[in-house]
Amino acid sequence: MSSLPDNLDVTDNINLLVSKYSREGKYKELQELHQKLEYFYNEFSRLSITEKKDSREVVKQLYELVDIYIREDRPKTATCSKGCSYCCSIHVSATSAEAEYLSQFVTDEMKPKLERQSKVSFDKWLDQDLEDQKCIFLKDNECSIYEHRPASCRLHFVQSNPELCNPSTKQITERIMITTAEIVYTAFMNLYGQSSIAPLLNRYVKSNG
Ligand code: SF4
Repeated sequence: MSSLPDNLDVTDNINLLVSKYSREGKYKELQELHQKLEYFYNEFSRLSITEKKDSREVVKQLYELVDIYIREDRPKTATCSKGCSYCCSIHVSATSAEAEYLSQFVTDEMKPKLERQSKVSFDKWLDQDLEDQKCIFLKDNECSIYEHRPASCRLHFVQSNPELCNPSTKQITERIMITTAEIVYTAFMNLYGQSSIAPLLNRYVKSNG
């Protein structure tokens, strides 16, 4: 059975949690976090490498697990609600397996914007005009692929005033971490790699023809 890679890649949230536990001497919590990470990494490895499941099947498994832990752990302080789509204008990251899976939902109408977005780096994202900052899947302020949306979208929660998420205000928001769901995603991204979604998607769309 495989184990975690030496050059482990972790999300910003997990990184913050590890620093916090280390600072506070919470070694038992650190060990538990590592064990969970290893468990999910091995589960995804088993599906992907041992059972040779199609990456789209493994993505569905990722979304199922992330949703289960979000349902269990979503804090009551979250201020996110249906109809608010400010976070769909920020830079989104995804794994290559998710981009491959999501490429089936890219329509011809979305392609020119995706092409433009795929050339914009993380630090220049908010320099684009407001329309181009919006995700290609956002339609009438709702996610048109909600059931299939990337794990990073599922994991995005804030507990600050939602108006601070308005990208035109460029304010700092207060994110919430849903620990086990974040660990699941961290395990997955160590298997498939993570990067900006737009260039990844664009690559798969082009290779799909
Ligand atoms: S995939 Fe959906 S939830 Fe995620 S940024 Fe795009 S529109 Fe928003």
